[in-house]
Amino acid sequence: QEHLLRAPFLARLYGTETSLQKEDLTTEGNSFKGHDMLAPFTAGWQSNDLDPLVIEKSEGSYVYDINGKKYLDALAGLWCTSLGGNEPRLVAAATEQLNKLPFYHSFWNRTTKPSLDLAKELLETFTASKMAKAFFTNSGSEANDTQVKLVWYYNNALGRPNKKKFIARAKSYVDWYHGSTLIAASLSGLPALHQKFDLPAPFVRHTDCPHYWRYHLPGETEEEFSTRLAINLENLILKEGPETIAAFIAEPVMGAGGVIPPPATYFDKIQAVVKKYDILFIADEVICAFGRLGTMYGSDKFNIKPDLVTVAKALSSGYLPIGAVMVSPEVSDVIDSQSSKLGSFSHGFTYSGHPVACAVAIETLKIYKERNILDQVNRIAPKFQDGVKAFSDSHIIGEIRGTGLILGTEFVDNKSPNDPFPPEWGVGAYFGAQCEKEGMLVRVAGDNIMMSPPFIMSPEEVDELISKYGKALKATEDRVK
Ligand code: PLP
Repeated sequence: QEHLLRAPFLARLYGTETSLQKEDLTTEGNSFKGHDMLAPFTAGWQSNDLDPLVIEKSEGSYVYDINGKKYLDALAGLWCTSLGGNEPRLVAAATEQLNKLPFYHSFWNRTTKPSLDLAKELLETFTASKMAKAFFTNSGSEANDTQVKLVWYYNNALGRPNKKKFIARAKSYVDWYHGSTLIAASLSGLPALHQKFDLPAPFVRHTDCPHYWRYHLPGETEEEFSTRLAINLENLILKEGPETIAAFIAEPVMGAGGVIPPPATYFDKIQAVVKKYDILFIADEVICAFGRLGTMYGSDKFNIKPDLVTVAKALSSGYLPIGAVMVSPEVSDVIDSQSSKLGSFSHGFTYSGHPVACAVAIETLKIYKERNILDQVNRIAPKFQDGVKAFSDSHIIGEIRGTGLILGTEFVDNKSPNDPFPPEWGVGAYFGAQCEKEGMLVRVAGDNIMMSPPFIMSPEEVDELISKYGKALKATEDRVK
């Protein structure tokens, strides 16, 4: 591995020193070096030697950079552009609403028709358990912050002022992502989200990550692994005191932390524990909702019966910022009577239920229904899953995992979860750069690669994705061996 030279400038790009060379990147040649933006989840934004990849245009499953280079958008933006890059009906819905009423708020019993209509439509899409009300935010992070406030408000109303802690999931290696506002970042398990930000907030506890491949004991079946994790959760609750634990939050399939579907029987066993101690279950469906897993919600797929649900991203196919919290009748009744007593439910944002975002979301849900989006996802998902998983034998791949239209790849040495590649080799970053070179965008996090393509991908585009993945993998194998 002597030839793998360190390139500190890439350390700023990928958050770790990597062996990549400048030539491995394809973004040279635009004029945005040392730009003026403090860019999210980016390091080195103040430097002069880094060119950002500037995307200018999108079309179906593709995006184009400012140099005209075309990329298959295998992450659908940031797991969100479910209907692809140029759905004219969404543009028309936005334009129509902009012409009619570009803005009015939803405070003090004033509101707009799109927000009322969207609440109704959205609640109808969720059938795993009964949901009574929807609250709108601008993002998944705001929605998860809202969840915490609602749960605290609820327990205060019930005279349980000590029942305030949240349990989320994390383990040192792969981590759950619930957003990056103060509270959502605290719920997330990722150390990088906490370091130097004085987080996490003190009310958050973390329990095991249900990643079977990485954490199962020798000889342990998936079912036994799930049983052990449920026992660990119960022990954590008992140690903390059940009267202090308010809620448990989980994604049905973990997305940004590496794409981790739950092991067999996991959610059945976890839900039994949570219920036993009167702890609310929050399903963070920001990535999983609206068909990503081949079911309308991840909750449908894993028989989760949540008390509260978070959605965002594909709610508007990413075209405008909108998120939502759905609340069960039991929780919303308590919140309603408490706020009536207090004279107001004093929580909300200027743009809660923004009429243009709501109009686009209504049209998005309509398109999902009209085009039988679940059938569409289930038609291409096997090709996508089988095609990529066919590379599982690669000597640098530990695991390829996923379901529906979401897939994660983890690079390790010796096919063992215990043998990560040295971070400075930048194996994942190299693979990501090779994909970019081939004309495909994926998510890279350390040596984890994630893909969540648009629902509208054609079978030919799936073939193209698999072919580009294969080429990037071959180049990465050659580099590592
Ligand atoms: N929850 C999950 C599961 C997510 O994946 C994300 C974002 O990726 C969020 C919450 C935060 O959403 P946003 O970026 O819209 O704040």
